Amino acid sequence: MSEALRVGVIGAGIVGLSTALWLQRAGIRQVTLIDRAAPGSGTSFGNAGVFAEFSRVPYTSWKQLKQLPFALRDKTSPIAVRRDYLPNLWRYATEFARACTPSRFEAGCVALTQLQQTASDDTYTLVTMTGATSLVRDDGVLSLSSSAEGLERALAGHIGLRERLGAHAMRLNAADAAAMEPGIGPFHAGGVYYPDARFTLDPHALCVHYAEHFVSQGGQFLQAQIHTINASRDSCSLMADGRSHAFDHVIVCAGVEGARLSAGLGCRLPLVSERGYHLMLDGATVQLNRPVAWLEKSVYLTPMRGGIRAAGIAEFASPDEPPNEDLYALLENDVATMLGKRLKVLSKWIGARPSMPDSLPIMGRVPGQPAVTLALGHGHLGLTFAAVTGRMVAESVVAGRDTVEMRPFTPARFS
Ligand SMILES: Cc1cc2nc3c(=O)[nH]c(=O)nc-3n(C[C@H](O)[C@H](O)[C@H](O)COP(=O)(O)OP(=O)(O)OC[C@H]3O[C@@H](n4cnc5c(N)ncnc54)[C@H](O)[C@@H]3O)c2cc1C
Repeated sequence: MSEALRVGVIGAGIVGLSTALWLQRAGIRQVTLIDRAAPGSGTSFGNAGVFAEFSRVPYTSWKQLKQLPFALRDKTSPIAVRRDYLPNLWRYATEFARACTPSRFEAGCVALTQLQQTASDDTYTLVTMTGATSLVRDDGVLSLSSSAEGLERALAGHIGLRERLGAHAMRLNAADAAAMEPGIGPFHAGGVYYPDARFTLDPHALCVHYAEHFVSQGGQFLQAQIHTINASRDSCSLMADGRSHAFDHVIVCAGVEGARLSAGLGCRLPLVSERGYHLMLDGATVQLNRPVAWLEKSVYLTPMRGGIRAAGIAEFASPDEPPNEDLYALLENDVATMLGKRLKVLSKWIGARPSMPDSLPIMGRVPGQPAVTLALGHGHLGLTFAAVTGRMVAESVVAGRDTVEMRPFTPARFS
């Protein structure tokens, strides 16, 4: 019966694309993917390319909260807030503080670890199904610390916790790390190697691959801006550029913009825009075998098809504001420290992470609106969790209700 459903997916980023592919795989024949722009041209275009199977710990902790005022004042910190965005952050800040209680933090660890149980396999299913294996590499990820004390603290803190939650992390001294990545300068005191992590050589090309496969299997792509969603118990119409499009079920995978669309349905989410920056660097003179992170600065250097991508920064600001050039300069300086030299900048990019205060994505039906499911708010882990999200959401559409494994991610947790 679910095969005959007409399902609309709003947003052709990595989350919407993955969801559309899983819907097809579940046998649903009439799937329409809708985006105002070309597939993969939103935030999914420019990420660091890491399938971070080691990430199992929410950002929410009293320690983080206490450090935040210092980080915001420090001009060399990767965290920034635009003053004019502050009014948008009150609810986010309140929910962040609520999520710092030990019981909520622990529940967050359990929920993220639950997603990681199948995230890698679900991603691999989509990558092989779409013939994109040449875009994904299995060489792990290196995370380095600039001081021995910083590394000790991290090992006793979030890295140790990740290990207890099942992640595989191998400790490396500075010489071991240098032997693995001779292209990296001597800025570090060693770190850890996550051997089970994968990365993509081109996040945008991966999206394009997914989109092409979706269309080749009979999926429809509609380029249109969705203004409103009108939902009844068992159907939905989407208003786009003066036209109405009817579906039996709609899945909202619109990233940051999903907050506005779900608010129109009476579901107000504390979802905000946390902007990240990237620089594409001419990598002709540097050999890099895998993504390398600088732990204290949260900067990633990833070898990609078009050069080396330096990605990082968490700037709470409206997606539409121009980039802050000081933050590009900060990223460039951090990269020069990591590599021991400056590389030519080929291009610059900025994108808005859809960020939730408890570090957990939203998956589930809009309360009181059984014909609309939300799949958004993946923050720093959208590439990592897109495939598992898409599978879970597709299964719930077939089941006709949210499944048990979606419970920790329900939008109702903020009502
Ligand atoms: C610098 C940086 C580095 C990152 N590195 C990593 C990493 O290494 N690993 C990882 O797992 N994650 C990483 N992330 C996070 C990851 O990129 C995001 O979580 C992910 O891309 C979000 O995907 P999405 O599909 O939800 O959103 P998007 O890619 O933004 O897609 C949403 C789509 O919806 C469309 N849309 C929105 N509103 C409408 C509307 N009204 N009508 C029609 N279309 C609409 C948009 O055009 C867009 O294409 C990083 C993010 C940044 C910024």
